[in-house]
Amino acid sequence: MKFLITAGPTREPIDPVRFISNRSSGKMGYALATAAIETGHEVELISGPVCIAPPQGAQLIRVTTADEMAEAVQTRMNTGCDAFIMCAAVADFKPREVRPRKIKKHEGLAHIELVPTRDILASVALPRDHRVIIVGFAAESDSLAENALKKLREKHCDFICANDITRMDTGFDAEENELTLFFRDGSQRHLQRASKLTLARLIVKICVEFAEKR
Ligand code: C5P
Repeated sequence: MKFLITAGPTREPIDPVRFISNRSSGKMGYALATAAIETGHEVELISGPVCIAPPQGAQLIRVTTADEMAEAVQTRMNTGCDAFIMCAAVADFKPREVRPRKIKKHEGLAHIELVPTRDILASVALPRDHRVIIVGFAAESDSLAENALKKLREKHCDFICANDITRMDTGFDAEENELTLFFRDGSQRHLQRASKLTLARLIVKICVEFAEKR
């Protein structure tokens, strides 16, 4: 199978030195790429800026902004894939205007006008080829199931991997994670706390099972 995976945060520039971003180490997305490669699948990994080494064997496409990630995803979706896993923590907002020169401290910056970025997952999933398995992630601090189910429906995913970000020992930057998977048929599956690679292997296995049923 061919997996298209996104990982890491995006950065939305304010001026040449400053940006807004999201907390994301890229570890979960990189673990998914590793898990797919080790089971013999082809992997294209679209990654925002991270500080970890790329998995050997993945075709790495580096991007910085949400717009760049959206374009890279669209291009790769057009050339085709069997499973698309949108694990990246895309910034939901970007500054309306990017200042061409560094804003001096004495000039001040009383406010930054933000505009929403394009929702990559929702936009690629809409006119989708039903043979492509689409997986989303959801980081939630409250009403985990309710919010995950809403995203599952609105973003037309086959399943959503949801994690509770109020837990300090799992999730952001941690080596381990704990996820609940919500499927389109209404079923759910809890993946006990484990290393991100262990969880990634389970997610890749579920994608392969989905592909076999199509
Ligand atoms: O940000 P949100 O909680 O809605 O993210 C849920 C899913 O949507 C994730 O898979 C994330 O990668 C994706 N997303 C996206 N484009 C955005 C925001 C989020 O594809 N602009």
